[in-house]
Amino acid sequence: MTPDRRRTRQGTHGTRVLIAGAGIGGLTAALALDAAGIEAEVVDSARVLRPLGVGINLLPHAVRELTDLGLREALDATGLSAEQLVHFDRHGNRVWGEGRGIRLGYAWPQYMVHRGELQMILLAAVRERLGKDAVRTGTAVLGYEESPGGVTVRLRDQHSGAESEESADVLVGADGLHSTIRRGFFPDEGAPRWNGVRLWRGVTEGDPFLDGRTMAVLGTNLRTKFVCYPISREAADRGRALLNWLGEITIPRDELTETADWNRPGRLEDVLPHFADWTVPWLDVPGLIGGAAEILEYPMVDRDPLPFWSRGRVTLLGDAAHPMYPLGSNGGSQAILDARALAFELARADSAAAGLAAYDAARRDAVNAIVLANRNNPGDTILNTVAERAPDGFDRVGDVLTPEELAPLANGYQHITHTDDLDRTSPWAVTPDQRRAR
Ligand SMILES: Cc1cc2nc3c(=O)[nH]c(=O)nc-3n(C[C@H](O)[C@H](O)[C@H](O)COP(=O)(O)OP(=O)(O)OC[C@H]3O[C@@H](n4cnc5c(N)ncnc54)[C@H](O)[C@@H]3O)c2cc1C
Repeated sequence: MTPDRRRTRQGTHGTRVLIAGAGIGGLTAALALDAAGIEAEVVDSARVLRPLGVGINLLPHAVRELTDLGLREALDATGLSAEQLVHFDRHGNRVWGEGRGIRLGYAWPQYMVHRGELQMILLAAVRERLGKDAVRTGTAVLGYEESPGGVTVRLRDQHSGAESEESADVLVGADGLHSTIRRGFFPDEGAPRWNGVRLWRGVTEGDPFLDGRTMAVLGTNLRTKFVCYPISREAADRGRALLNWLGEITIPRDELTETADWNRPGRLEDVLPHFADWTVPWLDVPGLIGGAAEILEYPMVDRDPLPFWSRGRVTLLGDAAHPMYPLGSNGGSQAILDARALAFELARADSAAAGLAAYDAARRDAVNAIVLANRNNPGDTILNTVAERAPDGFDRVGDVLTPEELAPLANGYQHITHTDDLDRTSPWAVTPDQRRAR
């Protein structure tokens, strides 16, 4: 097949960036690059971008970045700000809780939102600001070749199968868990690592529970764990709750036989029996599972931290760089932070390669630490202890855990994820004028 050569659009900064992947990370990167005066285009292998997935949480530092990109109003109209995160045993007895977002003292809220709706907000903003052709669907990145003057990216049209080439100054691999660009860097890496936990996820409309703004984590991931939170402003305005739920079941670890796929359908009969006898007074757990229009199943996988994300004119971002267990609200949040840091560093660097190296240095160690922290989540460790010591429930949490045992919940994870050092402005706020002034 004869390759068809074309170039991405020319930017005011003089650098042209091609982004592989129109997920949360890739779309935010396009918006951040545009805000910094750098021309960007996005390609995605999906033929149509549909609002897939279920709920996702955006931590205050990610909300700060989206606010800076002018998306706060849209977020507020779509999702709900989280007021508190509370851990319970499987009977609904409270173990520990604390405020979230503004209630915890941050200047920005934490949002609970449908992942697909968030993606559609970002997509609409990219098309409005960068042009309606700035995101090309049905276009898969197959590989790339770097030369001193740029990077030539091989693409395939998913409709016709036709292959083509496109040149750019920078290629960003925001192509998710099974990233092609990452495989180019690390061809021998193999499949993601599985920890023996399976997740079933769904969304069910119901009555609001507790204060209507709580993220509830119940049970123990030694056996069965259930996470639930509301994600829809529209439902809340009607006095109802669109409840995102997630059932976690630990099964004897075997080799993972299927490819981890966020969009794989799950079966009610595989998940409901594990929760059928749950009788939480303020949450109908079996009813929520049974009431979901669609159930998704996903193995809890991640990949080992990488020794580098950037090489020459090519870099990784979001799940392509650091897929992590979906715990602690960091998957989407860290992708958004990556996107802003990338734009900031590229905008002020003397060369594309220097900008990508600076982005790598700014982000990699911090996010690698989160990947590792998620493997040993303090919340899970404490809920496991509660389940072992008080399998039939308890009256006072002080009878089950000492204050010292509870302390890591409050201090440990938050420190690692750097949500404790939010100042008033984004460290990566950059417009063309700000860039010149720095
Ligand atoms: C369909 C889907 C549903 C999800 N649902 C949830 C959820 O319910 N809860 C949750 O916590 N997280 C979910 N995630 C993961 C979550 O979106 C990410 O952890 C986080 O937002 C970081 O996003 P990302 O942009 O780095 O990667 P992703 O969101 O995975 O986006 C990667 C994008 O790259 C595209 N792509 C892949 N290969 C290529 C290629 N070769 N060329 C071009 N494009 C390519 C994919 O089509 C995808 O749109 C989901 C991801 C996907 C793709």
